Amino acid sequence: MKNENAQNLPVAVLGAGPVGLAAAAHLIERGLTPLIFEAGAAIGANLATYRHVRLFSPWQYNIDKAARRLLLGQGWSEPAGEELPTAGELVDHYLAPLASIREVNSNLLLGYRVTAITRPGFDKVKTKGRESAPFLIRANTPDGSCQFLASAVIDATGTWSHQNPLGADGIPALGEQALSDRIDYGMPDVLGSARETYAGKKVMVVGAGHSAAGTLLALAQLTQEHPDTRIVWVTRGSQLARFFGGGEADALKARGQLGLRLKALRDSGGLEMRQNFRILELAETDGKIAVTAEPIDGPAPVIEGIDRIICAAGARPDLALTRELRVRHDPWLESTDALAPLIDPNEHSCGTVRPHGHRELAHPESGYYAVGAKSYGRAPNFLLATGYEQVRSVAAALVGDMAAADDVQLDLPETGVCNTRLAYEAAPEPTGSCCNVAPAAAAACCVPAPSPTGACGCSKPAESTCCA
Ligand SMILES: Cc1cc2nc3c(=O)[nH]c(=O)nc-3n(C[C@H](O)[C@H](O)[C@H](O)COP(=O)(O)OP(=O)(O)OC[C@H]3O[C@@H](n4cnc5c(N)ncnc54)[C@H](O)[C@@H]3O)c2cc1C
Repeated sequence: MKNENAQNLPVAVLGAGPVGLAAAAHLIERGLTPLIFEAGAAIGANLATYRHVRLFSPWQYNIDKAARRLLLGQGWSEPAGEELPTAGELVDHYLAPLASIREVNSNLLLGYRVTAITRPGFDKVKTKGRESAPFLIRANTPDGSCQFLASAVIDATGTWSHQNPLGADGIPALGEQALSDRIDYGMPDVLGSARETYAGKKVMVVGAGHSAAGTLLALAQLTQEHPDTRIVWVTRGSQLARFFGGGEADALKARGQLGLRLKALRDSGGLEMRQNFRILELAETDGKIAVTAEPIDGPAPVIEGIDRIICAAGARPDLALTRELRVRHDPWLESTDALAPLIDPNEHSCGTVRPHGHRELAHPESGYYAVGAKSYGRAPNFLLATGYEQVRSVAAALVGDMAAADDVQLDLPETGVCNTRLAYEAAPEPTGSCCNVAPAAAAACCVPAPSPTGACGCSKPAESTCCA
């Protein structure tokens, strides 16, 4: 491998989601070159899996400031600030135009899944000379396994690609992998592309967060057209009241109506609810799935006759990428360590996250930052606006502008909508502040080389590539 002067290398940005692309925009503004690795075939690959979901924060909070400046310079027409986009609209009307700007596009590697980050010639234990060595990024690419050098790494790979399993113990339930062809993780589009998969089936939804609620509401809608569809809602705990909304009195009319519909569905027997159901095992019986939970006061409870399962039990970061780096994570949240007290969902159910930047995001491995949803680890209360401020601060720190890097501020939404809705539902009128937290305090809504000529024959030119 060529001995590069690390300062002249690009900054690796891992993930072309909203925060990764915002990082790229800030780096470009700061005169640095981003080299963006995206595992998906297109940008915004995680958002694309829930295109149908309407976001709870309006456009004005979903657009990064540096990205906006770049886009406006290209004649982009900005969507109306108060409107709530769907995830698909965020990709189509914001991320895709951003990614097509020349300075971004020419450094964007689609279909490049990063598998490891290290320093060339240094395993994790070796210290002397470590900080002057560049980073080495290994990626699975359309042309095989390739390696790239970078001066710093901004890891914005999110968590959505690593969904939590059904098993109540945090590991897959027995039989979960064998039956994986009947399980969807996340938020499948049950009213759109996945309609046929779910219509008329007995569907188990697992989870107590807003993804589960959004999916249940969609299934409730599906039962209106396909009354033979059956829904079983399983949660580990027993706090369900908030999902039924305030009924007729709900300030958010659409949510209130859907809450009433869920209630009606439950009352008519179309929705079976099983609380304190901690899944241990899945088995196939007569072509259907039988799900067994931990016994509480008697024999292990079993739910039988399930056709499909939707697991909406949250997601976790991929910590394997940094196995050879000196990183420090919170032991249970798996967030960047210094961030944990600011975001702990045990304390911050509805968001009082303070603005934070490069200092809280730093790891013992100087030059490596996890940002965006990944920086929060398993905490589900990440907000785009927070991620945009993170990458502004990190980009400033990377060029040594410490005054700007330390001047962290957060401009927060006052949506009053801590909920996930579907594209099919009308967007409600914004009311009040986020979860009744005073706007100033509310930081999060509770939801949630050398040219590549080497042996691997990479096809995308990139200044710092060095193929294995
Ligand atoms: C249903 C839902 C609704 C939400 N609504 C809102 C909202 O209204 N407002 C709000 O502020 N926030 C919302 N969030 C939270 C958050 O803003 C989003 O999750 C957001 O997408 C996080 O952005 P990100 O860039 O950090 O990660 P992601 O969007 O997850 O992007 C990560 C990218 O990295 C890529 N990647 C992953 N692994 C690798 C790898 N090894 N190598 C290369 N690339 C990789 C992925 O393909 C993806 O493109 C919502 C989240 C969910 C799940």
